[in-house]
Amino acid sequence: MSLALYRKYRPATFAELRGQEQVTVPLAQALRNGRVHHAYLFSGPRGCGKTSSARILARSLNCEQGPTPEPCGVCEPCIALGPTGPGSIDVIEIDAASHGGVDDARELRERAFFAPVTSRFRIYIIDEAHMVTREGFNALLKLVEEPPPHLKFVFATTEPEKVIGTIKSRTHHYPFRLLAPGTLRGLLEEILQQEGVRYEPSALPLVVRAAAGSARDALTVLDQLVAGADEGGISYSRAVALLGYTDASLLDEVVNAFAAGDRAAVFDAVDRVIEGGHDPRRFAADLLERFRDLLVLGAVPDADSKGLLDAPPDEIERMRDQATRMGPAELARAADLFHQGLTEMRGTTSPRLLLELICARTLLPGAATDESALLARLERLERHLVGGTGGGAPDDSSPPAAASPPAKPPTAKPAPPQPPPARQPAPSTSGATSGATSGSASGAGSKASAPPAASPPAQRTPPTGKPREAAAAGQVDVAAVQGAWPDILEAVKRRRRVAWMILVGDVQVVEVDDTSLTLAFARDGDMKGFTSSGSDQILQQALADVLGVQRRVQTVAGGAASGGSPGRSGNPSGPAEPTRTDPPQSGPPSTDDPAGDPGAASPPAGPPEVDPDNDADVDPGLTGMALIQQELGGQIIDEIDNS
Ligand SMILES: [Zn+2]
Repeated sequence: MSLALYRKYRPATFAELRGQEQVTVPLAQALRNGRVHHAYLFSGPRGCGKTSSARILARSLNCEQGPTPEPCGVCEPCIALGPTGPGSIDVIEIDAASHGGVDDARELRERAFFAPVTSRFRIYIIDEAHMVTREGFNALLKLVEEPPPHLKFVFATTEPEKVIGTIKSRTHHYPFRLLAPGTLRGLLEEILQQEGVRYEPSALPLVVRAAAGSARDALTVLDQLVAGADEGGISYSRAVALLGYTDASLLDEVVNAFAAGDRAAVFDAVDRVIEGGHDPRRFAADLLERFRDLLVLGAVPDADSKGLLDAPPDEIERMRDQATRMGPAELARAADLFHQGLTEMRGTTSPRLLLELICARTLLPGAATDESALLARLERLERHLVGGTGGGAPDDSSPPAAASPPAKPPTAKPAPPQPPPARQPAPSTSGATSGATSGSASGAGSKASAPPAASPPAQRTPPTGKPREAAAAGQVDVAAVQGAWPDILEAVKRRRRVAWMILVGDVQVVEVDDTSLTLAFARDGDMKGFTSSGSDQILQQALADVLGVQRRVQTVAGGAASGGSPGRSGNPSGPAEPTRTDPPQSGPPSTDDPAGDPGAASPPAGPPEVDPDNDADVDPGLTGMALIQQELGGQIIDEIDNS
């Protein structure tokens, strides 16, 4: 009885085809100019008008008034090839998915030479053209190259790169695109109006989203919604339920809870999502989408009028408030975490658990030490300082305080390595105990905050310093490395000049075994600069370049005699235990590393006089780079080769 919407509203002319102007305009012009090619390739995602366009082209070519971009619509070919017409004997649609073999191609070739029965042209529309076999294409090649004058080809495919080049080069290629949300929405509104179906405007963005750029999918979804609509028309709540999206009010609630740092509310909302029978992945994806919308709204205040967001005005208003309360750094971090989490959720047996973990991570920027977390914390602080001005001052101010306890653990640990501060207690204690206050104490307390600031680079080493198993069986000892040292240095220099600068200083190769190579640094600062800049990785690669061996680079500091060239074999006992750092383990026991186990960290006072809080103790021998890295927490982002 009732025709599916996507068939009923199939475009009949190029002018009616939505959102593919890059194709329809030149094609219509070619028809107008009478410059019609004999073979076309229509490529693009499914459901965005390729086959419809092929039929329109056939209709335009065979219309009795044609060829014309505006087929008359009343002649026999026009009716036959119209959206609801029965089709024409001279327009042959072939689904290559089932008829792509060489036999089909041969049969097609034989029939191709017969003149059209009733129309001007005989037109082959070959759908899913990438499914035509190589032999099939070869059988067609001659025909496509020199077709009889009454013959036209339209190849349609989602994967143009799989259509063999010899065919492709003989066609005019028109790429179709996914439809923009605005275009889809316009199409939906028009059809609903023509159908006389009432609808809540807030339901349309859901359909647009579900369609993901495909007009056919959009109309199929709309069909279903229209079918299920009562006299009230299409309602938001039904659309949300049918399409399985998370209700916007629930998203509002979660985002507000995140903005306020209200952990109880977040987990409560998650609980209701699960109890409501929603898929945690769907929820996470919807929340990610919301974070994206908020980021856009934060950057482009009039995003809604520009068409970057599609939501009803009251929703936009709520989102605007959320965007100011969360801030770009926190939003970006939350989006990252959810994006990452969505990948992890694929195939997990307990998506709910994972969802809760992602929420927990998002709530606690203080528990992480990466830059995004620090930025998020900084942003909270700034908002906190600006205070009151933003909407909802009370819940804006209390939550950061509530969130700060979790911020403590990472920063509170440095306390043990700081027995020295006891000697000069005043500035350091305040700075070290609370991550939240360190910012305000910045000016005078810069020394106190130095260790935490310096720690991220130190902790960044583990990913880069990931232990690599000794791949090569080559036997290498200290002497061999020393012999090849100049070449190794050259290789390092080519890769990264800073690493080379450190290595040409007071550094010795003290030990080489099957898995690792140990370097002794005369100066503590050089060692830290070396590992925190990832130079150990550079050296590791250089070793592989020059000697063809994989050795994990370890560093030891202190004791080694100064003035030694790398060629001199130091005694491994000298730079012994206390400060031995193992990059893969993030070099924990180094003196001012907050992650260090307190018990083990106190002895490191071993290389004795390093007091992170006392400028007087800064190693006078620190070079510029190491000084910046150690004292200011600087980090090499990029190098410019000026040579
Ligand atoms: Zn006509």
